[in-house]
Amino acid sequence: MGEQLDPFGDTVDRLVTTGLGKLNHEVLNPGIVPAVHAEARRIYGRPLTLLAAERLMETVERDDNVLIVANSIEMDGPPGAAALARALDAALDARPIIVTSWEPDPLLPDEERLRRVLPETCIAAGLMPVAYDLLRRRAHRVHIHPFPAECITTSKVLAHELLDRFDPAAVITTEVIGRNEKGVYHSAMGYPLHEELAPHDKADRLDYILEAAVDRGVPSISLGDNGNEMGFAPIADAWRRHHPYGARCHCPCGGGIVSATPSDIVIPAATSNWGCYGVEACLARLKGDPAVMHDGETEHRLLHACASVGVTDGATVWCTPTVDGTPHLASVYVVELLHMTVTQSLRTLHRPW
Ligand SMILES: [Zn+2]
Repeated sequence: MGEQLDPFGDTVDRLVTTGLGKLNHEVLNPGIVPAVHAEARRIYGRPLTLLAAERLMETVERDDNVLIVANSIEMDGPPGAAALARALDAALDARPIIVTSWEPDPLLPDEERLRRVLPETCIAAGLMPVAYDLLRRRAHRVHIHPFPAECITTSKVLAHELLDRFDPAAVITTEVIGRNEKGVYHSAMGYPLHEELAPHDKADRLDYILEAAVDRGVPSISLGDNGNEMGFAPIADAWRRHHPYGARCHCPCGGGIVSATPSDIVIPAATSNWGCYGVEACLARLKGDPAVMHDGETEHRLLHACASVGVTDGATVWCTPTVDGTPHLASVYVVELLHMTVTQSLRTLHRPW
Protein backbone atom coordinates (compact mmCIF):
# COMPACT_ATOMS: atom_id res chain seq x y z
CA MET A 1 0.00 0.00 0.00
CA GLY A 2 1.15 3.45 -0.85
CA GLU A 3 3.31 5.82 1.06
CA GLN A 4 1.11 8.64 -0.32
CA LEU A 5 -1.04 8.08 2.76
CA ASP A 6 1.87 8.82 5.11
CA PRO A 7 0.80 12.46 5.78
CA PHE A 8 -2.61 11.11 6.83
CA GLY A 9 -0.95 8.49 9.05
CA ASP A 10 1.36 11.09 10.60
CA THR A 11 -1.67 13.24 11.45
CA VAL A 12 -3.30 10.26 13.17
CA ASP A 13 -0.07 9.44 15.03
CA ARG A 14 0.11 13.05 16.26
CA LEU A 15 -3.51 12.99 17.47
CA VAL A 16 -2.98 9.80 19.50
CA THR A 17 0.32 10.95 21.02
CA THR A 18 -0.83 14.45 22.01
CA GLY A 19 -0.44 15.51 25.62
CA LEU A 20 -3.97 16.99 25.53
CA GLY A 21 -5.57 16.71 28.99
CA LYS A 22 -2.49 15.31 30.76
CA LEU A 23 -1.92 16.04 34.44
CA ASN A 24 1.25 17.62 35.79
CA HIS A 25 3.12 14.48 36.88
CA GLU A 26 6.54 12.88 36.35
CA VAL A 27 5.19 9.81 34.49
CA LEU A 28 2.11 11.39 32.90
CA ASN A 29 4.33 14.24 31.63
CA PRO A 30 3.02 15.12 28.15
CA GLY A 31 6.53 15.22 26.66
CA ILE A 32 7.52 11.58 27.15
CA VAL A 33 5.36 9.77 24.58
CA PRO A 34 5.95 12.24 21.71
CA ALA A 35 9.73 11.89 22.27
CA VAL A 36 9.54 8.07 22.25
CA HIS A 37 7.17 8.10 19.29
CA ALA A 38 9.52 10.31 17.25
CA GLU A 39 12.30 7.74 17.66
CA ALA A 40 9.96 4.85 16.82
CA ARG A 41 8.79 6.74 13.72
CA ARG A 42 12.44 7.03 12.60
CA ILE A 43 13.15 3.35 13.29
CA TYR A 44 10.09 2.11 11.38
CA GLY A 45 10.24 4.83 8.73
CA ARG A 46 6.45 5.12 8.49
CA PRO A 47 3.53 6.36 10.63
CA LEU A 48 3.00 3.60 13.16
CA THR A 49 -0.81 3.50 13.27
CA LEU A 50 -0.91 3.35 9.47
CA LEU A 51 1.75 0.63 9.37
CA ALA A 52 -0.31 -1.44 11.82
CA ALA A 53 -3.54 -0.97 9.83
CA GLU A 54 -1.77 -1.88 6.58
CA ARG A 55 -0.40 -5.06 8.16
CA LEU A 56 -3.90 -6.02 9.32
CA MET A 57 -5.36 -5.32 5.86
CA GLU A 58 -2.69 -7.53 4.28
CA THR A 59 -2.90 -10.47 6.64
CA VAL A 60 -6.47 -10.70 7.97
CA GLU A 61 -9.15 -12.23 5.76
CA ARG A 62 -12.89 -12.60 6.24
CA ASP A 63 -13.76 -14.87 9.21
CA ASP A 64 -10.14 -15.01 10.39
CA ASN A 65 -9.62 -14.92 14.13
CA VAL A 66 -7.64 -12.01 15.54
CA LEU A 67 -6.42 -12.19 19.14
CA ILE A 68 -6.51 -9.00 21.18
CA VAL A 69 -4.57 -9.49 24.42
CA ALA A 70 -5.86 -7.01 27.01
CA ASN A 71 -5.81 -7.56 30.76
CA SER A 72 -5.85 -4.02 32.18
CA ILE A 73 -8.69 -3.34 34.60
CA GLU A 74 -8.07 0.38 34.63
CA MET A 75 -9.90 2.82 32.36
CA ASP A 76 -6.98 2.67 29.95
CA GLY A 77 -7.32 -0.77 28.44
CA PRO A 78 -10.82 -2.21 28.00
CA PRO A 79 -12.27 0.67 25.89
CA GLY A 80 -9.36 0.44 23.43
CA ALA A 81 -9.65 -3.34 23.18
CA ALA A 82 -13.41 -3.16 22.62
CA ALA A 83 -13.09 -0.41 20.00
CA LEU A 84 -10.41 -2.36 18.16
CA ALA A 85 -12.55 -5.52 18.22
CA ARG A 86 -15.40 -3.51 16.72
CA ALA A 87 -13.15 -2.07 13.99
CA LEU A 88 -11.77 -5.51 13.05
CA ASP A 89 -15.35 -6.70 12.60
CA ALA A 90 -16.43 -3.57 10.70
CA ALA A 91 -13.39 -3.26 8.43
CA LEU A 92 -12.34 -6.85 7.81
CA ASP A 93 -15.26 -9.11 8.85
CA ALA A 94 -12.71 -10.67 11.19
CA ARG A 95 -13.61 -12.55 14.37
CA PRO A 96 -12.16 -10.77 17.42
CA ILE A 97 -11.12 -12.84 20.43
CA ILE A 98 -10.06 -10.86 23.50
CA VAL A 99 -7.67 -12.83 25.72
CA THR A 100 -7.58 -11.55 29.27
CA SER A 101 -7.05 -12.43 32.93
CA TRP A 102 -9.85 -13.14 35.38
CA GLU A 103 -7.49 -13.62 38.32
CA PRO A 104 -8.35 -11.74 41.54
CA ASP A 105 -6.79 -8.29 41.44
CA PRO A 106 -6.57 -5.66 44.19
CA LEU A 107 -7.59 -3.01 41.63
CA LEU A 108 -11.03 -4.62 41.33
CA PRO A 109 -11.45 -7.07 44.20
CA ASP A 110 -15.06 -8.04 43.32
CA GLU A 111 -14.50 -11.00 40.96
CA GLU A 112 -18.05 -10.93 39.64
CA ARG A 113 -17.49 -7.35 38.48
CA LEU A 114 -14.03 -8.16 37.15
CA ARG A 115 -15.48 -10.71 34.72
CA ARG A 116 -18.07 -8.20 33.48
CA VAL A 117 -15.57 -5.49 32.50
CA LEU A 118 -14.77 -6.61 28.96
CA PRO A 119 -18.23 -7.99 28.09
CA GLU A 120 -19.98 -4.78 29.12
CA THR A 121 -17.42 -2.54 27.44
CA CYS A 122 -17.73 -4.60 24.23
CA ILE A 123 -21.54 -4.34 24.33
CA ALA A 124 -21.13 -0.55 24.56
CA ALA A 125 -19.04 -0.80 21.37
CA GLY A 126 -21.93 -2.65 19.68
CA LEU A 127 -20.51 -6.19 19.91
CA MET A 128 -22.22 -9.18 21.48
CA PRO A 129 -19.96 -11.31 23.72
CA VAL A 130 -20.57 -15.02 22.96
CA ALA A 131 -19.06 -18.47 23.51
CA TYR A 132 -16.46 -19.36 20.89
CA ASP A 133 -18.70 -21.81 19.00
CA LEU A 134 -21.24 -19.00 18.45
CA LEU A 135 -18.72 -16.43 17.20
CA ARG A 136 -19.47 -17.01 13.51
CA ARG A 137 -23.25 -17.46 13.65
CA ARG A 138 -23.87 -13.73 13.26
CA ALA A 139 -21.77 -10.65 12.55
CA HIS A 140 -20.71 -8.16 15.24
CA ARG A 141 -19.75 -10.64 17.92
CA VAL A 142 -16.73 -11.06 20.17
CA HIS A 143 -15.39 -13.94 22.26
CA ILE A 144 -13.67 -13.20 25.57
CA HIS A 145 -11.23 -15.88 26.66
CA PRO A 146 -9.46 -16.05 30.06
CA PHE A 147 -5.77 -16.96 30.28
CA PRO A 148 -4.98 -18.42 33.73
CA ALA A 149 -2.18 -17.33 36.05
CA GLU A 150 0.47 -20.06 35.86
CA CYS A 151 4.17 -20.76 36.26
CA ILE A 152 6.51 -20.01 33.35
CA THR A 153 6.58 -23.60 32.01
CA THR A 154 2.79 -23.97 32.00
CA SER A 155 2.24 -20.45 30.61
CA LYS A 156 4.44 -21.31 27.63
CA VAL A 157 2.50 -24.53 26.98
CA LEU A 158 -0.87 -22.77 27.35
CA ALA A 159 0.23 -19.95 25.04
CA HIS A 160 1.03 -22.41 22.25
CA GLU A 161 -2.21 -24.32 22.88
CA LEU A 162 -4.11 -21.03 22.60
CA LEU A 163 -2.50 -20.28 19.22
CA ASP A 164 -3.13 -23.86 18.05
CA ARG A 165 -6.79 -23.61 18.99
CA PHE A 166 -7.59 -20.17 17.58
CA ASP A 167 -5.02 -20.03 14.76
CA PRO A 168 -5.11 -16.20 14.68
CA ALA A 169 -4.20 -14.19 11.58
CA ALA A 170 -2.75 -11.51 13.88
CA VAL A 171 -2.13 -10.83 17.57
CA ILE A 172 -2.62 -7.34 19.01
CA THR A 173 -1.69 -6.47 22.59
CA THR A 174 -2.83 -3.29 24.32
CA GLU A 175 -1.91 -2.05 27.78
CA VAL A 176 -0.68 -5.45 29.03
CA ILE A 177 2.33 -5.41 31.34
CA GLY A 178 5.26 -7.53 30.14
CA ARG A 179 8.33 -8.72 32.02
CA ASN A 180 11.63 -6.85 31.67
CA GLU A 181 14.94 -8.48 30.76
CA LYS A 182 15.30 -9.67 34.39
CA GLY A 183 11.89 -11.36 34.28
CA VAL A 184 10.26 -8.77 36.58
CA TYR A 185 6.86 -7.16 35.87
CA HIS A 186 6.72 -3.46 36.84
CA SER A 187 4.13 -0.72 37.20
CA ALA A 188 4.63 2.50 35.23
CA MET A 189 5.83 4.09 38.47
CA GLY A 190 8.78 1.70 38.62
CA TYR A 191 7.52 -0.67 41.32
CA PRO A 192 7.55 -4.46 40.90
CA LEU A 193 4.07 -6.03 40.64
CA HIS A 194 5.13 -8.99 42.82
CA GLU A 195 7.25 -8.99 45.99
CA GLU A 196 9.33 -11.83 44.59
CA LEU A 197 8.43 -13.92 41.58
CA ALA A 198 10.10 -17.29 41.09
CA PRO A 199 9.75 -19.14 37.75
CA HIS A 200 7.47 -21.74 39.38
CA ASP A 201 5.17 -19.11 40.95
CA LYS A 202 1.76 -18.61 39.39
CA ALA A 203 1.26 -15.15 37.88
CA ASP A 204 -0.35 -13.39 34.92
CA ARG A 205 2.19 -14.13 32.23
CA LEU A 206 0.27 -13.11 29.11
CA ASP A 207 3.52 -12.00 27.49
CA TYR A 208 4.18 -15.67 26.68
CA ILE A 209 1.25 -15.44 24.22
CA LEU A 210 2.99 -12.61 22.35
CA GLU A 211 6.30 -14.45 22.54
CA ALA A 212 4.73 -17.60 21.06
CA ALA A 213 3.08 -15.55 18.29
CA VAL A 214 6.39 -13.91 17.36
CA ASP A 215 8.14 -17.32 17.41
CA ARG A 216 5.54 -18.66 14.98
CA GLY A 217 5.66 -15.65 12.67
CA VAL A 218 2.08 -14.56 13.46
CA PRO A 219 1.94 -10.79 12.71
CA SER A 220 1.96 -8.83 15.98
CA ILE A 221 1.13 -5.27 17.01
CA SER A 222 1.64 -3.90 20.52
CA LEU A 223 0.33 -0.73 22.12
CA GLY A 224 1.18 0.99 25.37
CA ASP A 225 1.92 4.31 27.00
CA ASN A 226 4.84 3.67 29.37
CA GLY A 227 7.09 1.01 27.86
CA ASN A 228 6.39 -1.50 30.67
CA GLU A 229 3.76 -3.04 28.38
CA MET A 230 4.65 -6.21 26.44
CA GLY A 231 6.03 -5.77 22.94
CA PHE A 232 8.23 -2.70 23.36
CA ALA A 233 11.62 -4.42 23.02
CA PRO A 234 12.16 -2.95 19.48
CA ILE A 235 12.20 0.60 20.91
CA ALA A 236 13.44 -0.25 24.43
CA ASP A 237 16.32 2.19 24.15
CA ALA A 238 13.98 5.14 23.50
CA TRP A 239 11.84 4.32 26.57
CA ARG A 240 15.00 3.91 28.70
CA ARG A 241 16.14 7.40 27.79
CA HIS A 242 12.83 9.26 27.94
CA HIS A 243 10.80 7.56 30.72
CA PRO A 244 11.80 8.34 34.34
CA TYR A 245 11.72 4.61 35.20
CA GLY A 246 12.75 3.23 31.81
CA ALA A 247 16.33 2.57 32.87
CA ARG A 248 15.93 2.35 36.65
CA CYS A 249 13.17 0.88 38.78
CA HIS A 250 12.46 0.99 42.49
CA CYS A 251 13.23 -2.70 42.98
CA PRO A 252 16.51 -4.59 43.35
CA CYS A 253 16.29 -6.12 39.85
CA GLY A 254 18.03 -3.06 38.39
CA GLY A 255 16.53 -3.64 34.95
CA GLY A 256 14.12 -0.69 34.59
CA ILE A 257 10.48 -1.13 33.60
CA VAL A 258 10.81 -1.66 29.83
CA SER A 259 9.34 -4.90 28.52
CA ALA A 260 11.78 -7.39 27.00
CA THR A 261 9.20 -9.05 24.73
CA PRO A 262 9.37 -8.02 21.07
CA SER A 263 6.46 -7.34 18.71
CA ASP A 264 6.47 -6.65 14.94
CA ILE A 265 4.95 -3.17 15.15
CA VAL A 266 4.85 -1.05 18.31
CA ILE A 267 2.70 1.99 18.96
CA PRO A 268 3.53 4.29 21.87
CA ALA A 269 0.41 6.42 22.52
CA ALA A 270 -0.68 9.13 24.98
CA THR A 271 -3.02 6.47 26.37
CA SER A 272 -3.17 2.94 24.99
CA ASN A 273 -6.87 3.44 24.20
CA TRP A 274 -6.01 6.30 21.87
CA GLY A 275 -3.42 4.17 20.08
CA CYS A 276 -6.16 1.61 19.36
CA TYR A 277 -8.39 4.39 18.04
CA GLY A 278 -5.56 5.50 15.73
CA VAL A 279 -5.32 2.03 14.21
CA GLU A 280 -9.10 2.12 13.75
CA ALA A 281 -8.86 5.48 11.94
CA CYS A 282 -6.24 4.10 9.56
CA LEU A 283 -8.32 0.97 8.91
CA ALA A 284 -11.27 3.27 8.11
CA ARG A 285 -9.13 5.31 5.69
CA LEU A 286 -7.72 2.22 3.95
CA LYS A 287 -11.23 0.76 3.59
CA GLY A 288 -12.62 4.13 2.42
CA ASP A 289 -15.35 3.83 5.05
CA PRO A 290 -15.53 6.33 7.96
CA ALA A 291 -18.04 4.03 9.74
CA VAL A 292 -15.15 1.68 10.55
CA MET A 293 -14.03 4.34 13.07
CA HIS A 294 -16.28 4.67 16.12
CA ASP A 295 -17.69 8.13 16.87
CA GLY A 296 -17.71 10.42 19.90
CA GLU A 297 -21.13 9.21 21.06
CA THR A 298 -19.89 5.62 21.07
CA GLU A 299 -16.74 6.69 22.92
CA HIS A 300 -18.90 8.35 25.57
CA ARG A 301 -20.86 5.09 25.91
CA LEU A 302 -17.69 2.94 26.03
CA LEU A 303 -16.11 4.97 28.82
CA HIS A 304 -19.29 5.15 30.89
CA ALA A 305 -20.00 1.42 30.49
CA CYS A 306 -16.47 0.52 31.58
CA ALA A 307 -16.44 2.85 34.61
CA SER A 308 -19.93 1.76 35.64
CA VAL A 309 -18.76 -1.83 36.17
CA GLY A 310 -16.33 -0.51 38.79
CA VAL A 311 -13.20 0.13 36.74
CA THR A 312 -11.02 2.92 38.10
CA ASP A 313 -9.00 5.64 36.43
CA GLY A 314 -5.38 4.46 36.65
CA ALA A 315 -4.16 7.85 37.90
CA THR A 316 -6.91 9.08 40.24
CA VAL A 317 -8.38 5.67 41.32
CA TRP A 318 -11.89 7.12 41.05
CA CYS A 319 -14.52 4.96 39.30
CA THR A 320 -15.06 7.65 36.69
CA PRO A 321 -14.98 7.62 32.87
CA THR A 322 -11.69 9.54 32.92
CA VAL A 323 -8.55 7.83 31.57
CA ASP A 324 -5.18 8.21 33.33
CA GLY A 325 -6.50 11.44 34.86
CA THR A 326 -7.54 12.83 31.47
CA PRO A 327 -11.13 14.18 31.35
CA HIS A 328 -13.53 11.88 29.51
CA LEU A 329 -14.29 14.61 26.99
CA ALA A 330 -10.63 14.56 25.91
CA SER A 331 -11.13 10.98 24.69
CA VAL A 332 -14.45 11.90 23.07
CA TYR A 333 -12.86 14.86 21.27
CA VAL A 334 -9.84 12.82 20.10
CA VAL A 335 -12.23 10.23 18.65
CA GLU A 336 -14.21 13.01 16.91
CA LEU A 337 -11.00 14.55 15.52
CA LEU A 338 -9.85 11.14 14.23
CA HIS A 339 -13.29 10.58 12.67
CA MET A 340 -13.21 13.97 11.00
CA THR A 341 -9.67 13.36 9.77
CA VAL A 342 -10.82 10.14 8.06
CA THR A 343 -13.91 11.77 6.52
CA GLN A 344 -11.99 14.78 5.20
CA SER A 345 -9.20 12.60 3.86
CA LEU A 346 -11.76 10.74 1.74
CA ARG A 347 -13.02 13.98 0.12
CA THR A 348 -11.20 15.21 -2.98
CA LEU A 349 -11.11 18.93 -3.63
CA HIS A 350 -11.49 19.84 -7.33
CA ARG A 351 -10.18 23.29 -8.04
CA PRO A 352 -8.90 23.71 -11.57
CA TRP A 353 -7.71 27.31 -11.34
ZN1 LIG B 1 12.94 -3.81 38.90
